[in-house]
Amino acid sequence: MAEKKPVLNEDLKNVITLKALVDRGSNKVIFVESDDFIDVLFSFLTMPMGRIVRLAEDSVPVKIGCMRNLIQSVEKFDVHNFRSNACRDMLSLPCNSADLECKNLKLKIDNDRPTRYFRCVRCFLSYYKSGSCPSCGYSFCFEIPVDNTQLGGVFVKGRPRLIITDDLQVISPVGAANICLFSKLGVTDFKTTEELTFNMGVQEALNLLMHSFVSKTPLTEILLKNEPIPSLGDVHSSQGISIDSQMHGDTINEEEKNICLKLVVSKSKKIVCYAEAQEDFVNLLCSFLTLPLGFILEKMRNVSWKGCLDQLYKSVEDLDQQYLKSNFHKELLVNPKLAPGFRYENPLLGIKEASFYYVKSKLTTDKSCIPDYASAESVKLNVFYPKSHEDRDKSAQGFLKGPATFTVTDNLVVRPLSLILEMSVLQELKVPFTDIENHIVHVGKREALLLLVASFVGDSALTNTFIESLGSQSKNNKEGLVTQRRACFCCYCIKTPQYSYL
Ligand SMILES: [Zn+2]
Repeated sequence: MAEKKPVLNEDLKNVITLKALVDRGSNKVIFVESDDFIDVLFSFLTMPMGRIVRLAEDSVPVKIGCMRNLIQSVEKFDVHNFRSNACRDMLSLPCNSADLECKNLKLKIDNDRPTRYFRCVRCFLSYYKSGSCPSCGYSFCFEIPVDNTQLGGVFVKGRPRLIITDDLQVISPVGAANICLFSKLGVTDFKTTEELTFNMGVQEALNLLMHSFVSKTPLTEILLKNEPIPSLGDVHSSQGISIDSQMHGDTINEEEKNICLKLVVSKSKKIVCYAEAQEDFVNLLCSFLTLPLGFILEKMRNVSWKGCLDQLYKSVEDLDQQYLKSNFHKELLVNPKLAPGFRYENPLLGIKEASFYYVKSKLTTDKSCIPDYASAESVKLNVFYPKSHEDRDKSAQGFLKGPATFTVTDNLVVRPLSLILEMSVLQELKVPFTDIENHIVHVGKREALLLLVASFVGDSALTNTFIESLGSQSKNNKEGLVTQRRACFCCYCIKTPQYSYL
């Protein structure tokens, strides 16, 4: 295979070089080596889900569970459904809490819509130039310049010579010697191995990211097979996902179960056809788009899925601290936070929000940059909370205005309450009215995390989250946490001819 050249006209600055050891016999990448590439790979963990889905839409339309349906639903919401105009932007293009670091990547795959930072005279920061500071009243007219002149060395220190296997495990040179790497990777005959050099541009890096959601051999696919689009089919079959017993998260606490929704379930198929929910549940779903990939991967350990990004996550977690620039940088990857201002008040998912500090005319989220003589509070820049841009409602908690009711399908298509959508779902699933029953369920921390993982790895998020627990609820709650209302659609007054065939 000849050396791969970057596409013509591509900005040559935005290209990195990889050395790969390739097994010609099996036509597979054994591993690659490149310090610049390591940083790019690690930066995947910091990217918010909404941005990844957006990049997939623009380049490699891979299906990541239900996330695409979710973001498309958000984009179709009427502007009046949101608390403010900014809320829609926050969901369709959420900010990365490691953005200040990622601006120094040698290869920037997410640079088309860069995040900008504005401040008033002194107290608040905003991602938007519009609006005025709630404290001093000045507009956000000062753009804070971000230093992106020192390219490279973003997360890793020095030149660590880490190697990356085809399934994105990152192995230190010491580790490689200890584990007989070659035999572990299935190399038996060195006559067939060959060292190749590849150039990786933005498109190749995007392809790699997207392949790593659906393949265990993404490097082979993008470097050797040159497959432009991963197979889209039913790559994340919902069958066989066993999330329940392996989930991280707290056990059920009755007091916190404050989100309630109605599931419409097919008795014979044992699936959730759709749900009817208030804005609190849809806010929770929307918040999935703001979560960094690393946070989601941390919650889905040992869940079997098609991709290999979990290997990347585990490798970084196990990586000796000496290879990373600091503990702060490790935390950005394995314990990523929401970008400042993106916190969703309902703490069901338990993710923290980063803070901005303005130190020596520079913006940072690294607390260790604060000099000893200053307190964190004195240099902290509060974020003008975009969720309350317009209604100035201090109690504004979510992205959507309430009260509102929504229809949510099993694969997370969300619409303001829509009987047409509900009917079409039943019709598509071939579920007659006589086969459905309604269940009221509550969502606490455990269910929220289950739902997050189910919506990431499969396309039956509601079924995978709730169906098993419905069985146990039926046994345990004879009084009827579970309510049955067979085919009772009369309250919706569905009498129009278009439904008569049902
Ligand atoms: Zn101000």
